[in-house]
Amino acid sequence: MAAITLKNVIKRYGKGASANQVIHGVNAEIADGEFIVIVGPSGCGKSTLLRMVAGLEEISDGTISIGGRVVNDLEPSERDIAMVFQNYALYPHMTVFDNMAYGLKIAKVPVDEIKTRVDKAAKILELGQYLARKPRELSGGQRQRVAMGRAIVRQPQVFLFDEPLSNLDAKLRAQTRLEIQKLHRELGITSLFVTHDQVEAMTLAQRMVVMNGGVMEQFGTPEEVYTRP
Ligand code: ADP
Ligand code: ADP
Repeated sequence: MAAITLKNVIKRYGKGASANQVIHGVNAEIADGEFIVIVGPSGCGKSTLLRMVAGLEEISDGTISIGGRVVNDLEPSERDIAMVFQNYALYPHMTVFDNMAYGLKIAKVPVDEIKTRVDKAAKILELGQYLARKPRELSGGQRQRVAMGRAIVRQPQVFLFDEPLSNLDAKLRAQTRLEIQKLHRELGITSLFVTHDQVEAMTLAQRMVVMNGGVMEQFGTPEEVYTRP
């Protein structure tokens, strides 16, 4: 079964005569465990597409399924996804542990289970020695890893990455890219990763969705995409 299915997905902003269609019927099937990169120029609809999968943006027409279940009418919290944003959006007054644990506390996961999951994520991300620190006491790379930790502990079926590297300097970007690849090797979680950077897309993608003007122009491995006229 496909992990994510998009069927004739359409997005319009606004209503009636002033409506502006920005996604024009996207179809795609993403297999379990795949790392998919959505790439294309600014304004082509990448982040709108991702936000519809996340439940942060209404789907105007068509259907999105996750794990065989149509999610159009489900809240983000009901979709079995976790999202990693460009700005890490950590809570400044909370420790690293509490930042990672917060979503689980809200979801009323038992305290022992929270501790087990946070410790496991911290180990994978090499954050074990920083759990008592506040975000301001961390480097940019460590903060980005905490943001990923917060996604991991939810044990979602799908990871959604919204340009998570674009605010980092070149060195940190390369480092975090490796981190994300390692994470995917270890956890094998189906991932959708949005970027406007073609090099980033080529190095990370198992398959890539190439968007242009709200249309999916290509969907294939980096080799397929770059050897096609
Ligand atoms: P990308 O992520 O590829 O840069 P977006 O998905 O952000 O592109 O935007 C796609 C198109 O939709 C753009 O033309 C943008 O101006 C428009 N758009 C995005 N969000 C909104 C919104 N909330 N209201 C109206 N138009 C929007
Ligand atoms: P990005 O698409 O990379 O996230 P943007 O600067 O394009 O960054 O958009 C930032 C926010 O503004 C997003 O939440 C998007 O939905 C919204 N937005 C983008 N374009 C428009 C638009 N034309 N009208 C209203 N909101 C928009």
